[in-house]
Amino acid sequence: MSEEFQDHQIRDVIKINYKYTMGGQSKFFIELKNNKRLLGTKCTKCGKTWMPPRINCSDCYEPADWVELQQTGTIEVSTIVWYTTSAFIKAIPYGVGYIKLDGAETALLQGIFSENLVPSKIKKGKRVKVVFNKRRYGKMTDFFFVPDEEYDKWIAKPEYEGGL
Ligand SMILES: [Zn+2]
Repeated sequence: MSEEFQDHQIRDVIKINYKYTMGGQSKFFIELKNNKRLLGTKCTKCGKTWMPPRINCSDCYEPADWVELQQTGTIEVSTIVWYTTSAFIKAIPYGVGYIKLDGAETALLQGIFSENLVPSKIKKGKRVKVVFNKRRYGKMTDFFFVPDEEYDKWIAKPEYEGGL
């Protein structure tokens, strides 16, 4: 018998219940969940409109007010995801990108879905629209973007709906 060390391993699962707060940005998630509204913030000093919302302007550190943004936008940059966590594995392949909503001056990182995902569908400059899950939890995964031309098909599916 070898004297070499051999560790003894047992596989198990740790389940943890927890909650976390969105703090000052809670209004964004509550409006998303309850009213399908996308709120950004507008700086009270320089007027810059932030999406994702900032409670205080990151340029001049002054407070920002809530403003409702359009649910249409333009892709600034994107990629196609092939490797992901268990939460999103059924959606592979899907796009993610930085999207500038109409009325915002900063871009939001979010999923971009397409029924026929090829790079040209989600390239820079493409126009996209927001599709909401019918069952929303107040999470970023409650909505995603689709190319303009696919919008009507996506919101016709039973699990999704349009916004404004
Ligand atoms: Zn500012």
